[in-house]
Amino acid sequence: MPPALPQYLWMNGQLVPYQNATIHVSTAAAFYATNVFEGIRIYWNDDKQDAYAFRLQEHFMRWSESMKMMRFSVPYVPADLEEALREVIKGNNFKEDAHGYLVAYVDAEGLTSTEPVGVYLIFRRRGRLTDDGKGMHCCISSWVRTSDNAIPIRLKCGANYQNGRLASLQATVDGYDAPILLNSQGHVAEGSGASFFMVRKGEVITPPTTADILESITRVTLMQLFKEEMGLTVKEQEIDRTQVYVADEAFFCGSGYEVTPILSVDRFPVGNGQPGPITQEILQHYLRVVRGTTDKHAEWRTPIYQKVLVTA
Ligand code: PMP
Repeated sequence: MPPALPQYLWMNGQLVPYQNATIHVSTAAAFYATNVFEGIRIYWNDDKQDAYAFRLQEHFMRWSESMKMMRFSVPYVPADLEEALREVIKGNNFKEDAHGYLVAYVDAEGLTSTEPVGVYLIFRRRGRLTDDGKGMHCCISSWVRTSDNAIPIRLKCGANYQNGRLASLQATVDGYDAPILLNSQGHVAEGSGASFFMVRKGEVITPPTTADILESITRVTLMQLFKEEMGLTVKEQEIDRTQVYVADEAFFCGSGYEVTPILSVDRFPVGNGQPGPITQEILQHYLRVVRGTTDKHAEWRTPIYQKVLVTA
């Protein structure tokens, strides 16, 4: 079931009631999915009585790169967007975990139109994707990951997601929870909305950013946490389909997915078919950092409610 609707969105400079946040049917945004977006999570910290946005600056940076790629002009600076985010979270009075999107879209007709660019932020209350101790049963999709020479797959353009949509629908019709897509070279790329990691013989492996994958923020976060917290250097290398079948552990990661165990692939159990120990440990390190129950990496958390005093 989709999460409950929020009361307000932030749209083009102001808070707007959900039902009034509309785009015309004739715009490139509606017609060709001419938009770029970021998926961002907010974590509520009960002890601190504050909410934290995770790695906001990195999301703004990738959003700007997506716009550059799509030849949009960038309509806001990061400081404006940070304020807009505070407005929409506070405006909805979210004092729990939330997930949402920062979207830029072309508000004009035509395939090659590039302006005006509209922007909105929509957030909803949302907890974890799967319950603790659970995970996903996946298939290798027969849909091939779109290649970087066809559409800029390393960035987040809405139109890219038709590829993942087809793969996800096929996977669920066939009785799986989620697809794993191979790239046009036949190597593992990623999930429809998540990066892929596997563990084999004690080594943690993930495809390189040249494998037709999104340049995921969670992926680089986990690579750093694996090193700092567990002394493990993640190998970025091409992964073949059958390597996945004999993996000891596998998981998806992403802002939305956080760390979600993969329990089987094409009905081959991954390891013993339960979330593996390395997967479970990195998940705990990740959750501590995003929620701020550790002091480590405070630079990755943007407080929403706390008044930030700037002294001259
Ligand atoms: N790959 C795809 C296709 C995605 O949509 C996402 C979610 N944004 C990810 C990977 C993970 O990226 P991030 O860690 O930046 O959320």
